[in-house]
Amino acid sequence: MVLGRAQESCSGHSRPTEAIVDLDRIGHNVTYLKSFLATGVALMAVVKADAYGHGALRVSKAALNAGAEWLGVALAEEAVELREAGIAAPILILGPSHDRQMDWAVRHGVDLTVFDEQHLLWAKMAAKRHRTRARIHLKLDTGMGRVGLIWDRLSKAWIEALADPDLHWIGLSTHFSASDTDPGATKTQLARFLDAIEYLRGQGALPSEIHAANSAAIMQYPGAHFTMVRAGIAVYGLKPYSQAVGLEPALKWRSEVAYIKVVGQDFAVGYAGTFRTAEAMQLLSVPVGYADGYRRGWSNVSDVLIGGHRYPVAGRVSMDQITVAVPLGIAVRVGDPVVLLGRDGEEEISAEELAGHIDSISYEVVTGIGKRVPRRYRGD
Ligand SMILES: *Cc1c(COP(=O)(O)O)cnc(C)c1O
Repeated sequence: MVLGRAQESCSGHSRPTEAIVDLDRIGHNVTYLKSFLATGVALMAVVKADAYGHGALRVSKAALNAGAEWLGVALAEEAVELREAGIAAPILILGPSHDRQMDWAVRHGVDLTVFDEQHLLWAKMAAKRHRTRARIHLKLDTGMGRVGLIWDRLSKAWIEALADPDLHWIGLSTHFSASDTDPGATKTQLARFLDAIEYLRGQGALPSEIHAANSAAIMQYPGAHFTMVRAGIAVYGLKPYSQAVGLEPALKWRSEVAYIKVVGQDFAVGYAGTFRTAEAMQLLSVPVGYADGYRRGWSNVSDVLIGGHRYPVAGRVSMDQITVAVPLGIAVRVGDPVVLLGRDGEEEISAEELAGHIDSISYEVVTGIGKRVPRRYRGD
């Protein structure tokens, strides 16, 4: 039983580095986003990539409790995980699926995105195997220039193919390329989508769900809401465009001071000595590194919060550790909390701020928080 004890003593993540997700804030953000919608417009909470790093199952439950009607994922695998955990709400796979993924999706009653004849064949085969109908959404490319059938290639042949008895045509969708920054491009895409909708209406072939808006479009373009909207980043309280207000960031990434030493002037810190102390100071070690998603690009540029004050990351970010420079005379102790992302008193380090250091976006910061960082939950 010695081994059993060893396992026990190592379980439960003794390292203090963790991400704390406030599920009440997820609920607040869903409620807030719903306030932009006319009655009858459904909200899909997009929980792909483990709910943007926040934890798909817990976030899904919180979002559904707060009034989201649908869930969106990127992969069949993500949808199956939710179904197997007991989530019964409609789930749409937003990205393309190959034949095996379609089989899993159809078996679990998950909606598929299609935009190619090959997709229809695979969906029909899966439906026949499982003696059911495959639930599908046709995706149009109205200017994103990524996946989707080019909007003006919709045809009678497509409408006939979608009327196949093995298929249940649920939805029509498109995706904006710049609803956060470019109203002109968004209006062009919207006009193309409206053309496609008019064409289908004229053919008496409009499916029941029409959806286009991501977070930035939900908050800025009511004309893009149709019957359903797809909210990702805003569910997590991160700004979908720079002027956005009213959202509450749900995730806090924290650790603790693991070690402190006092050093003199001109002391070299970390790999290659890229930081040298200008005067005597305290160097704090914090157990988080690029293997946890604390990006090496934040070396010598990001700050952390201790006791509600900002202190700089000194030297290179290592795989498992960072060093923080704190002036002499500031009282710090081993075990003091360190906020890497989130609020501490009056100060806040936002995902947008961290993204700005590396020419990135908040999406990449939160989805990049590694598996080694346990997620803990508050609220709900
Ligand atoms: C990820 C994704 C969304 C959500 O976008 P946000 O900007 O995070 O709101 C919506 N639709 C599709 C197709 C997506 O892939």
